[in-house]
Amino acid sequence: MRIGVVGTGYVGLVTGTCFADSGNTVTCLDINAAKIARLERGEVPIYEPGLEELVERNVKAGRLRFTTDAAASIREADVVFLAVGTPPCADGSADLSALWKVVDTIALQLRPDTIVVTKSTVPVGTCAGIEQRLEARTGRMCRVASNPEFLKEGAAIEDFQKPDRVVVGVRTKEVGEILRSLYAPFLRTENPFLVMSPESSEMTKYVANSLLATKISFINEVANLCERMEADIDDVRRGIGHDSRIGFAFLFPGAGYGGSCFPKDVQALAAMARDKGVVPRILTAVHDTNLAQKQVLGAKIDSWFGGDLAGKRVAIWGLAFKPRTDDIRDAPAIDLIDGLLAAGASVRVHDPEAIDNVRAVYGERLEYAATPLDTLDAADCLAIVTEWGDYRRPDFDEMARRMRQRLIFDGRNLYPPAELKARGFSYHAIGKQPV
Ligand code: NAD
Repeated sequence: MRIGVVGTGYVGLVTGTCFADSGNTVTCLDINAAKIARLERGEVPIYEPGLEELVERNVKAGRLRFTTDAAASIREADVVFLAVGTPPCADGSADLSALWKVVDTIALQLRPDTIVVTKSTVPVGTCAGIEQRLEARTGRMCRVASNPEFLKEGAAIEDFQKPDRVVVGVRTKEVGEILRSLYAPFLRTENPFLVMSPESSEMTKYVANSLLATKISFINEVANLCERMEADIDDVRRGIGHDSRIGFAFLFPGAGYGGSCFPKDVQALAAMARDKGVVPRILTAVHDTNLAQKQVLGAKIDSWFGGDLAGKRVAIWGLAFKPRTDDIRDAPAIDLIDGLLAAGASVRVHDPEAIDNVRAVYGERLEYAATPLDTLDAADCLAIVTEWGDYRRPDFDEMARRMRQRLIFDGRNLYPPAELKARGFSYHAIGKQPV
């Protein structure tokens, strides 16, 4: 099949590359000319494990190309995937301005049989809105479908190529069958291809992310409670997780969730609810709990130093919103850095992949270290925000030698408190008694 992908970000680039890798001819389109120029030079502008090799292979095979020319890429496409960003507006609702711009751009290039598929996360009713807009611009009914993306940054290729399920929302059986054949190479292990209405499909994506965010905010609230009740969140987690109705997934306490999806999708679903006259009590609580959780690590540091952080040197390990990505959108590390800088601390940071993105925001206001240990020279404390594998088994003796005092605030509960105590560290994790 000939496929056009509009928006060459985390989702669009992975989608286009994986469809090319399964034998389709794919053109990825973006308005960001610098991004397209880099891709044309063979540079992958984001960090995603395995992506660079896959892009290179498919470009070489002539199945994958990049362009800023909408007309040429859309006119020849059998299926056009829309994968532009849908960031939050001030009221939490999804900002669809990029999406509508794309719909207007592609309208006059579409062949009558081309299928337009939304892969962007869009509010319920957007597919219907696209149908109406395309009809108004082309004078005919166009084929529009919903196909939400469930990939996780950091494991995007694997998630795309071996999805738990593929969800499509379609108006006709025929469109469903065309999309089924496109996904068939990724569903050879019999994972389900679920066909439903575009409205249910659009809703499914928001509900999935909101439920995952709910689990995180729930366990974070319980963790904060454990700290004040002399309980240990890991014991409690084990105590509940073996119940088959509960399980262990997504019940790890931490410094709050971030990224470009959970925060905005919880808010967007809440905005949709309000719009329909439903009070989104749980969604509002999930979001507020997360905003508060992002302040927890900073508050612990501030409290340890008696509210006086002026001149203190703080080392931070981990800036990306989660491991194996360079994405810092809504990352908890950003809240922590902002708080520390505002309080007059100096901050030296490390991250295996996200340094360039952080430097673009903070410039010379931070110090950037090439290795985790290099953040620690004369540091008054270390804060761990992202659970990169690089931080799991550090050289504690060398850390102790470099730091001004042995003090760790761990937002990801990486180490056994007893071991840290035995090594002379003061160790503050989430949902555990400090040692
Ligand atoms: P992104 O910001 O990385 O990429 C969006 C791309 O769209 C950018 O390259 C931008 O230049 C391009 N773009 C904007 N306007 C355009 C236009 N008019 N024409 C062509 N290109 C245009 O975003 P992302 O993280 O890939 O997310 C895209 C969508 O997928 C969002 O709706 C998001 O919620 C959803 N999603 C994201 C993830 C994820 O993990 N990032 C997972 C599932 C779903």
